[in-house]
Amino acid sequence: AAQRLKECIREVDTVARLGGDEFTIILGNLDNTFCVERIANEVLKKLAEPYQVTQKAVYISTSIGITLYPDDSQHIDTLLKNADQAMYAAKKEGRNRFHYFTASIHQHSLQRIQLINDLRGALQDQQFTLVYQPIVALHNSAICKAEALIRWQHPQRGLVSPLEFIHIAEEAGYIVGIGDWVFREAAKQLSQWRTNYDMNLNMSINTSPAQYQDKGDTMAQWASYLEELKLPGSAIVVEITEGMLMGSNADITEKLLSFRDKGIQVALDDFGTGYSSLSYLNKFDIDFIKIDQSFVRNLSAESSDLILCQAIIIMAHKLGLKVIAEGVETEAQRQLLIEANCDYGQGYLFSKPVSTEEFEGLMKTQALQM
Ligand code: C2E
Ligand code: CA
Ligand code: CA
Repeated sequence: AAQRLKECIREVDTVARLGGDEFTIILGNLDNTFCVERIANEVLKKLAEPYQVTQKAVYISTSIGITLYPDDSQHIDTLLKNADQAMYAAKKEGRNRFHYFTASIHQHSLQRIQLINDLRGALQDQQFTLVYQPIVALHNSAICKAEALIRWQHPQRGLVSPLEFIHIAEEAGYIVGIGDWVFREAAKQLSQWRTNYDMNLNMSINTSPAQYQDKGDTMAQWASYLEELKLPGSAIVVEITEGMLMGSNADITEKLLSFRDKGIQVALDDFGTGYSSLSYLNKFDIDFIKIDQSFVRNLSAESSDLILCQAIIIMAHKLGLKVIAEGVETEAQRQLLIEANCDYGQGYLFSKPVSTEEFEGLMKTQALQM
């Protein structure tokens, strides 16, 4: 059971056996509380599989209690007590389930259901827009690419961040439609910008794993859409995350290779935060690595993050990949990255993500300076 639990968590998490048949899992540094639910479900699934004891298959049931620091309590004893109580509630409800300690979490899941409801019609009601952030050549800050980033204009709540709704759209099965819209919208925008401003501009587009696992053919039609727009595949960079390459699912491999056949480039987003496996870089024909903001944020001459960045850049270049540093906010960071031979930069130092009109303004300014 301990082994199976370890398979459900990240390297940085903790599993402990407190005694008897009780385990405790500590999940730190979570972006949002929904990951807790995903991991809890994973644990339930893993532990439900039969155990082979001598010749017999043995089954156990699992009850999970969840408590959140610091919302529920700041004290370790209280947190343990909370989790224990929540676990008993899970047992009482029939085992093989999890239960939250708080009302606040209950509130969270209500909000989530509400968001899922609201997302359902959002695409049709044209509530999404794209903003664009320049990716520049580090040495002269010239704009080379734009990354398209989605925004949701919620009729009541106002602007909702993609950090809040993308993973819900993924879980609820809306991401395929949304991702298709993003691709088409961004490609159309690029074709205009190429005609009006810069023939060499590229567009970087984020994609979710669910889009690759989808059995439909939305992605297969992207190539013909590009042809319609008279855009070469090489004008597009598709961004993926490392997690997606794990386990090398056949659908993913196939779609990535078909991108390559069309000349569409692939960038590995948030590099360094996941498994950072070198073997994937060659196997999947990756063109760009995007060094995650968390490494760039604390760059200084003496930092271990600088050493990491340098190592990533050397390695990438040896493998024939180009490197984009994300989250460049200061001139000092830019200088260190230039010295480390980094190719491209993206971040508030150059520009925040901006509207179509503002991006055009940036390109006009640049054209005047050339
Ligand atoms: P990401 O792909 O890593 O995008 C970069 C994020 O960092 C953006 O957040 C951007 O606004 C922010 N950023 C850029 N420069 C700086 C900087 O110098 N400092 C700081 N602190 N932040 C910076 P945003 O737009 O909120 O997007 C968040 C995430 O949502 C994206 O992270 C991406 O994973 C996801 N996302 C956005 N648009 C899409 C989309 O169309 N499809 C999918 N599947 N995911 C998307
Ligand atoms: Ca990205
Ligand atoms: Ca990123």
